[in-house]
Amino acid sequence: MKNIAVIGGGTMGNGIAHVFAQHGFDVTLIDVAPAALEKALATIGKNLDRQVAKGSLSEEEKSATLARIRTQSDLAAGVSNADLVVEAATENTALKLKIFAEMDQHAPVSAILASNTSSISITQIAAATKRPAQVIGMHFMNPVPVMKLVEVIRGYATTDAVTAQIMQLSKQLGKVPVEVNDYPGFVANRILMPMINEAIYTLYEGVSGVDGIDTVMKLGMAHPMGPLQLADFIGLDVCLSILRVLHEGFGNPKYAPCPLLVNMVMAGKLGAKSGEGFYVYTPGSKELVVSPQFVK
Ligand code: NAD
Repeated sequence: MKNIAVIGGGTMGNGIAHVFAQHGFDVTLIDVAPAALEKALATIGKNLDRQVAKGSLSEEEKSATLARIRTQSDLAAGVSNADLVVEAATENTALKLKIFAEMDQHAPVSAILASNTSSISITQIAAATKRPAQVIGMHFMNPVPVMKLVEVIRGYATTDAVTAQIMQLSKQLGKVPVEVNDYPGFVANRILMPMINEAIYTLYEGVSGVDGIDTVMKLGMAHPMGPLQLADFIGLDVCLSILRVLHEGFGNPKYAPCPLLVNMVMAGKLGAKSGEGFYVYTPGSKELVVSPQFVK
């Protein structure tokens, strides 16, 4: 594999482009929004500067990495010579089905089509193409250049050969891939989201306050951050939508989202990105100011 197309230049797409380019691949970064492409290149530049300052990358490697990234706003042109396409566009099922149908038409027949989706079925996405055997989940974690894990998700039709290729490629990127099967939430979110939901229920039922719950999990379970703060960072709307995928996918009431989470999302309290969730944040940053009304 040499040519990689990355669809979506947002939070995840710029990190995925960064990591592939740093490891010698030619990358075409595709986004419908020209402003997103400009911002993605600026972010990649800043993150590479940080690696240079830390001594983990040389100035030459930084320049070579940047030189390997091209941008493109036309999807058909962007995937036309790709060996692998990694889709990291907005988490919306209808949008992903449309993108996969379109890239299936324009990418070389041998190309593997991967999605970075957090929660949408790979099997469903694959069914939008004429090559379901070559469709797979490649679920990177945020921030991509830092986090080691890649959850490699086999759809119903994904072949052993394609899975093995993506596992090997992930290792080439310096990552640790874990192969999982395609069921709602895969492994990461199937375990993480019920824990976050239970933390919210614990708050909702008044068992403890925000600080109490997060402190128990940090100091008692050696988690680097508490589940409520993590939920704020992920985005409460994102947590709610993944819980709904689990609830609907398994039809099991144990995944029902806590009514407090539903209310907070309806009230526009989405976590760090909206300035308030379980904590209050300095506008535009993840710097925590204070936890609001839930503190005990
Ligand atoms: P984002 O909103 O930051 O970026 C999405 C980008 O997709 C935007 O720049 C948007 O302009 C672009 N886009 C929308 N429609 C497009 C189209 N038709 N063609 C090309 N580009 C298009 O989103 P994100 O947080 O980077 O998430 C992207 C994917 O990664 C989602 O599937 C999400 O579930 C998954 N994911 C996110 C995280 C996270 O922590 N943010 C972690 C793991 C996986």
